[in-house]
Amino acid sequence: MKLFFATANAGKLRELRELSQGLPLEIASLGDRPGAAQVDETGDSFAANAILKAEAWARREGGWALADDSGLCVDALGGGPGVRSARWSGGGDSGNNARLLRELAGQPPERRGAEYRCALALSDGKDSYLVEALCRGRIAAAPRGSGGFGYDPLFEVGELGWRTFGEASPQEKARLSHRAQAFRQLRPIL
Ligand code: IMP
Repeated sequence: MKLFFATANAGKLRELRELSQGLPLEIASLGDRPGAAQVDETGDSFAANAILKAEAWARREGGWALADDSGLCVDALGGGPGVRSARWSGGGDSGNNARLLRELAGQPPERRGAEYRCALALSDGKDSYLVEALCRGRIAAAPRGSGGFGYDPLFEVGELGWRTFGEASPQEKARLSHRAQAFRQLRPIL
């Protein structure tokens, strides 16, 4: 089956490719469509944005498309930055991480609870499947590790002895992450 991964985020793409290993899929992605216009993420939830992207790309491609909309929801920030995670600071991943540390400055570990959320939508332009998952953790006092992407150097996970996803191996993140848990629900459908 041909499947189009509707994401330009290199980190997401790498993880989705790893997670889909073993499935009989011929994968193309936004990287194979240079100059293609982005789909505006006008939804106010991860689910709405994932469906928007998957449906738009399925229609453009004339086949099945998979879209990931995800982000970080911090308890002390009322669930923010949420759907605005990617563009929160206007300064990319490093700006976002700096803003997160600034906004939580002086807060003890018990007030630094957070979760990653992920919605995955699979669509052929007419019918759509949606799965969602979350991964609970805590925001570190300073970044640690260079693995993963985005907020990973600041995201500590209890199941990893409070190591960050930046310090985790790709296999550990593929066992515990929001994206991995969502993808496991999608596997039987795929
Ligand atoms: P989206 O492309 O609008 O879904 O933006 C997702 C943003 O959420 C990314 O740019 C990251 O900042 C953040 N994010 C989502 N998933 C992860 C993850 O697994 N690790 C680190 N950051 C993530």
